[in-house]
Amino acid sequence: MIKREKILHLKSSRGRKVRVVREHYLRERVPCYSSLCLAGCDNDGKVLPGDLTHYVVPDVGVVVDYQEILEFRELQGIIYTQTACQGVYHCKGRRQYNRLRNLLKDPRHDCVLFANEFQEFSFCQRENGESQEQWQTRCVYSAAVWYYNHLAGMMDVVMITEDQDIIARYSSLHTGVYVISVQEYLQNFWSELRAAHELYSSICQALQQKESECTEKEFTDHLPAEILEAGIKSGRYIQGTLNVNKHRAQTEASVRTEGLSDKNTELSSEVLVYGNKHRNRAVHGDVVAVELLPKSEWRGKVSTLTEGQPEEKNGDDTQSQPMPTGCVVGILQRNWRDYVVTFPPRESTQSQSRNSQRILTVPWDHRIPKIRISTQQADALQDHRVVVRIDSWESTSLYPNGHSVRVLGRAGELETEVQTILIENCIHVPPFSDAQLREMPANSPEKPWKVDPSQVAVRQDLRDSHLVFSIDPAGCEDVDDTLSVRSLAGGMVLELGVHIADVTHFVSQGSLTDLEAHARATTYYLADRRYDMLPAILSADICSLLGGLDRYAMSVLWELDAQTLAVNNVWYGRTVIRSSYQLDYELAQALLNGEQGEVAELTRLSSREKDAKLAELRQALQVLTHVARHLRAQRDQGGALELEGVEVRAQLDNEKNITALVPRQPLEIHETVAECMIFANHWVARKIHEAFPHQALLRHHPPPRQEFFSQLVDSAKSRGFTIDTRSNKALADSLDQAVDPQDPLLNRLLRMMATQAMSQAMYFSTGAISQDQYYHYGLALDRYTHFTSPIRRYADVVVHRLLTAAIDLESGRSPAKALASNKELEELAHHINKKNRAAQQVQKVSTELFQCLYFKERDPDKDQCCVADAVVYAIRDNGVLAFVPLYGMKGPVYLKNRDGQVLSAGQDGGCEWQSGSVHRYSDRITTTSLIGITTFTLFSHITVRISIQSSRCHADSVNLELVSNRPHQSVTLGQAQSHGRSQLVQEVVRIAEEASQQARGKATRQPKLSREEQEFCQSKSPNLYLLLEEIRELSLMDLECTTPALRQSCILNA
Ligand SMILES: [Zn+2]
Repeated sequence: MIKREKILHLKSSRGRKVRVVREHYLRERVPCYSSLCLAGCDNDGKVLPGDLTHYVVPDVGVVVDYQEILEFRELQGIIYTQTACQGVYHCKGRRQYNRLRNLLKDPRHDCVLFANEFQEFSFCQRENGESQEQWQTRCVYSAAVWYYNHLAGMMDVVMITEDQDIIARYSSLHTGVYVISVQEYLQNFWSELRAAHELYSSICQALQQKESECTEKEFTDHLPAEILEAGIKSGRYIQGTLNVNKHRAQTEASVRTEGLSDKNTELSSEVLVYGNKHRNRAVHGDVVAVELLPKSEWRGKVSTLTEGQPEEKNGDDTQSQPMPTGCVVGILQRNWRDYVVTFPPRESTQSQSRNSQRILTVPWDHRIPKIRISTQQADALQDHRVVVRIDSWESTSLYPNGHSVRVLGRAGELETEVQTILIENCIHVPPFSDAQLREMPANSPEKPWKVDPSQVAVRQDLRDSHLVFSIDPAGCEDVDDTLSVRSLAGGMVLELGVHIADVTHFVSQGSLTDLEAHARATTYYLADRRYDMLPAILSADICSLLGGLDRYAMSVLWELDAQTLAVNNVWYGRTVIRSSYQLDYELAQALLNGEQGEVAELTRLSSREKDAKLAELRQALQVLTHVARHLRAQRDQGGALELEGVEVRAQLDNEKNITALVPRQPLEIHETVAECMIFANHWVARKIHEAFPHQALLRHHPPPRQEFFSQLVDSAKSRGFTIDTRSNKALADSLDQAVDPQDPLLNRLLRMMATQAMSQAMYFSTGAISQDQYYHYGLALDRYTHFTSPIRRYADVVVHRLLTAAIDLESGRSPAKALASNKELEELAHHINKKNRAAQQVQKVSTELFQCLYFKERDPDKDQCCVADAVVYAIRDNGVLAFVPLYGMKGPVYLKNRDGQVLSAGQDGGCEWQSGSVHRYSDRITTTSLIGITTFTLFSHITVRISIQSSRCHADSVNLELVSNRPHQSVTLGQAQSHGRSQLVQEVVRIAEEASQQARGKATRQPKLSREEQEFCQSKSPNLYLLLEEIRELSLMDLECTTPALRQSCILNA
């Protein structure tokens, strides 16, 4: 090893120049990570393939400025030099550097790191008078030459740079080592990769623009990091995440403080940031430091319903109580993501400075400021939605500068809108790659997948001993879970079994499939499609516990006392099962009730055999229900909550198409199955927590904060009901009592309000919080996790691995892989929680998109579908918030307009605008005009007209307009309910299909996909089942609201 000195000239964040001398050791052997290596390098981990035409070595400037292009997964054989990585650290900071490091670790990207400055023969000593840049270039070039020689000339090496002088100087120094520009590189090697070319030109333009910035200040400078940190420590500044109010994005933002002690009650947990100057270039989601303004400058939030386009000065906006108000003095962390923007129409492009071609684009998300893009495509892109990234926001600029990344398509087209929703929620679901699909087990008609005898040897074989069956919605193809029950010891013992698809047998930790599943964290359900977490060959076939097929499972078997049903013994382990019956809920319930049901699996049997089998199955279902009732009763005693239930169910045919939506009968069998799954999840949670007290993945549901219940309590009180929120049991009991026999909707709305007041259930690592916080409030269980759906939730995959490790530990075997540490697991929990919120959000927003598409096609003045019954569920200063049960939508209904007119009801209930005034009370609002006084009470039924407010740059929104202060007279409520919603969904699916057919190209009829392709493709068939299952929660829940004040404002603007 040779010792050298390396001198670094660094700049501190305050701009001071620092000279650092580092001792530097050179080695002969530094891994090259190439599969062509003949020199015996210690190439541990990812290696570059040998069957490429060349390797590519980007210089420092390219890695600093054009890294986004190198991130295309299509690009192969990229060698990052240590020199370039350090360059990124110094020019772009830690965040960008970490991003590069993660890329280097990610096996889905074909790139490696070469520690060129440690390699004896590629290292270059910096020469006297040589600039840092010149030296870096020499280092990178020397590394490129080293590769060519090290691989004995078997692989050409291309160095890419944006510096023409470097090309002139180095391009012909060495055979086999080429030096070209990025553009030339893309043209020569990736001419098909249009997206990369477009991104390249967009970055170029952004960089050129940056050089010609003006210098007049629009904002005050941000304070440097050291001053911010010291100020936060001393309490002068407050740290928190900036949250922009989407209904008043220009003016109103707030900072939710982090780690501010509860003692400081005066500050509560929120600081208002009013206006653009005070926001000082902070973007929604950034972590900022704020300084409080003097109390005399504090203000309140606006509490009036905002109509349509916000931001208009409205004289009679009422403000709430003044609250702590501050200004942003510095940014601790930028949390910029990809944003979808719309290019302005031609007229306004022309009025913007034409020659510079700098365009102010409008983000889809109201909370994001306009972003300035330099482009020559402004004309071609108008009316398109485009993905952009923000590059910088200097104090001299009113708007942030950015560059476009790719074009999504024309605004308003279905595919564009769906992609927009995904990108806005940071959901990236590319088709599964070939490399990933090669990891899948083989399964073809010629060579069907079979159980492996070596697996049978190490698993408990339940195929002959246990009657296993599944109960799912009709048409379900991904069967995660099956059940069994049998009597042992002469009837003294009942054995209950839950058998879950053994996904982790097929998805090994760290495989490409695992990484992709981890990144997605869940299957995403949109209104017209779903994006699976796992390839279909697993989710719909080999992992799916289909009837009559041998499958691997992870099982939990309980031995219960037949009399008391107390748990005597629990067994956890891997099994082989064969499900005898794949039942749907209705059939299972019919059998349970003693009715005749056609069981497909038994049709071929003689009637005697059939009767015997039926009796056996019926008996099993009865025992199961008996056990589930007992379990449920136990949880009820503990205070389990029954929140708003499912009310619509999709019926699927054999092709998995939706044929109808039927109001879901609340069948007991639903509860039975759910109860068994809850039981399994609970017992697995106990097991993994015992085995790994500090590093198990559990799920908790924190108790709600009492103040969130005020709306629920007050609303119920106005109708004479008392809601007791002191405990989950008290809440559950009092919700059960709050029933108006005349109006079943009242109880439903109260339950929705209760749901809204709840915290969200979350995953966590057992080492991260104290044990008294493990409690699952909604289920009334001390420990809980997710184990029963590994096909569509990554948390369950992790839990399966933990359970396997716990079983191994118990039997003295050392676990196959090292367990994640508490810190890693907590990060994972955080990631999954975030993705789950995103999944809920896309489901909600895509439902709204489809609602809008449905109503957009209709004339609100003529079409009877647009008039519907609604219920008032909250009172505001200038109107009410209403819920439309028929379509599961909610929105504001204004009683006062901008001209100061109010809505008054005539004799027949019909409403019209009159000059007058409104008066708000706690449980009602009245309008007074010449016609008289009209009152709208909480929970009263009104009739509304639904129309769509179109928006060019943002999502369309639903408009509710008061028609009458009486209930809507139509068909009986029950029928209308199912009829209306099913019509909406069917209509929307039809539109979606037509649109996607059009999008696929009118010219050619696509050849039918091969079976393999169908399997590997992501499912695009509409699967509304799960969507509908959650529609009720979505309809009233606004996920962004976590603080009381925000909650208020969101409900207000709902
Ligand atoms: Zn080597």
